[in-house]
Amino acid sequence: MSDETLMTKPSPAFTASAHIDRAGYDEMYARSVSDPVGFWGEMGKTLDWITPYTQVKNTTFDFGRVDIQWYSDGVLNVSANCIDRHLPKRSLQTAIIFEPDDPETPAQHITYKELSDKVNRFANVLLSQGVMRGDRVVIYLPMIPEAAYAMLACARIGAIHSIVFAGFSPDALANRINDSGAKVVITADHAPRGGRSTPLKSNTDAALLHCSDKVRCLVVKHTGEQTSWVQGRDVDVKYLMEHASPECPPRPMNAEDPLFVLYTSGSTGKPKGVVHTSGGYLTYAALTHKYVFDYHDGDVFWCTADVGWVTGHSYIIYGPLANGATTVMFEGVPTYPDAGRFWQVCEKHKVNQFYTAPTALRALMAHGNAPVEKYDLSSIKVLGTVGEPINPEAWNWYNDVVGKGKAPIVDTWWQTETGGHLLAPLPGAVATKPGSATLPFFGVQPVILDATSGEEITTTEAEGVLCLKDSWPGQMRTVWGDHERFQETYFQQYKGYYFSGDGCRRDADGYYWITGRVDDVINVSGHRMGTAEVESALVAHAAVAEAAVVGYPHEIKGQGIYAYVTLMNDQEPSDALKKELEVWVRTEIGPIAKPDFIQWAPGLPKTRSGKIMRRILRKIAENDTGSMGDISTLADPSVVEDLIGNSIYAV
Ligand code: ATP
Ligand code: MG
Repeated sequence: MSDETLMTKPSPAFTASAHIDRAGYDEMYARSVSDPVGFWGEMGKTLDWITPYTQVKNTTFDFGRVDIQWYSDGVLNVSANCIDRHLPKRSLQTAIIFEPDDPETPAQHITYKELSDKVNRFANVLLSQGVMRGDRVVIYLPMIPEAAYAMLACARIGAIHSIVFAGFSPDALANRINDSGAKVVITADHAPRGGRSTPLKSNTDAALLHCSDKVRCLVVKHTGEQTSWVQGRDVDVKYLMEHASPECPPRPMNAEDPLFVLYTSGSTGKPKGVVHTSGGYLTYAALTHKYVFDYHDGDVFWCTADVGWVTGHSYIIYGPLANGATTVMFEGVPTYPDAGRFWQVCEKHKVNQFYTAPTALRALMAHGNAPVEKYDLSSIKVLGTVGEPINPEAWNWYNDVVGKGKAPIVDTWWQTETGGHLLAPLPGAVATKPGSATLPFFGVQPVILDATSGEEITTTEAEGVLCLKDSWPGQMRTVWGDHERFQETYFQQYKGYYFSGDGCRRDADGYYWITGRVDDVINVSGHRMGTAEVESALVAHAAVAEAAVVGYPHEIKGQGIYAYVTLMNDQEPSDALKKELEVWVRTEIGPIAKPDFIQWAPGLPKTRSGKIMRRILRKIAENDTGSMGDISTLADPSVVEDLIGNSIYAV
């Protein structure tokens, strides 16, 4: 049955000025899937090509020979598309508004002309350090303009960037430098965030102890605080930029040359280097940015993500700048100096489209409406969310309190692997329902498969695993250095489809509802991490024999980290040891991975073959012990009683 009553329809006034209405969406969508070559052939022309493509789509999902190419004989440069081609018309328009962590520090308005100057200089600095086409450059920076310059400078000379979120630890950084084989790491002295400061340079020093001594370290002196300095290895970026030439010709790149590698959180413990290429990725990032946010010339767009996540790549940098937009880069956090910070920035810069994560909204909601109502938010036209399913309570608060019922909410479902939005309502066209990412973007063919049989469920109402039937230009091409793993992860389980790893329900209106992930990844405050990564960190501690980590419902974070820990025989459980383990995980992986609750587990529920039954641990952590299911295959069923008796709910 259709649940029209839940729907919020776009207002006629909004639709009148939008890029597209419902009939337009239906028509364009139909064409995009019936004639993908014609459709994407036309859409690709929104970019500037040095050599136009004659090939549009060469893709196969066949397991064993998965190969994805778009615009494969076209030649372009991504930085020229984000900068140079805008200069005739927009040289004095603001490209980036930089809003620093400290609200007392003035914002910077960086014009397209200035962006061009900085990126060209930065590109020359990279060349002077021996960075060549195809080389990897790891970027470990705060949310400062230099992060944008570094990304675009790599694109300009054909180097492949790999951003590591500044919240990650030295170990995580070292792993990524080594896996990508980077020649250079770009960092800053310190990263101020929420009034606190992370010592990025000394983290990088620690990481580089585990890397080849050939890796160079480019340091952005951002706060000016004193840091160590290794002669011959460390380089002062700003100094070199001042002395570099402001001209560096954009290198002609093939559409399928890699633009960046971005490591996902890694559900199996070893993070995957997701590879995105140039022509298709940029076409897709730009097109989704334009339609999903209904971006118009002159609008100010703000995506609050960090550039360390794919959302920052596609919707702070590449999508907006390809469209000649004004994009906001925010160094801070939503709650510093107070819970009104987001809204103060929206008022100050007259933000038109605002894009954030449900976890941020839940944290802000907890502070009530006053911090929102203090500011004039009348500039806001569209509100977006991404990262996890948004609970209806947060959706309604976003809609009523932030948007005053006038700004359509676009709930966007996508992944690092997809490059851009796959499911999202186009705001002038599609009525929304709280918690649903609604309908597919152009060219996207979602299907729901029965999880066990792998059969496609063709009825409108369906529930199962979410797969994609055919390629779209923003799709990842491979796992860095491991095409085998790419195929096995995404194409093996359900032959002929791209497997998203998410569960999904389709309702009577054909709307899609993501029900969560099928695998074992947990989502803590919008940061996703593989439980295996936290487990490996725990067992690396000398006192720990074994550990199993699951998510559990957490009011603010969405999911919290629940760790079951079995100690070595000679160890006594104590609160001091709990603290020690928390600090341990923090330093091994980073602050976001710190367990929220540690339960001492003298034994873990295991099958006879020795596999931990996570299903049971999840039930206990969710306080859902009434429906344990079959536990007869357990080697020792008595451990379950003990775990229930000492769970977070029992104390
Ligand atoms: P890894 O693949 O290493 O486990 P990850 O999946 O945690 O990493 P991302 O690619 O950033 O990292 O996250 C994509 C996932 O986030 C989706 O597969 C989905 O589970 C969830 N997600 C993102 N946006 C939404 C949304 N709007 N609604 C529901 N879920 C979402
Ligand atoms: Mg994933």
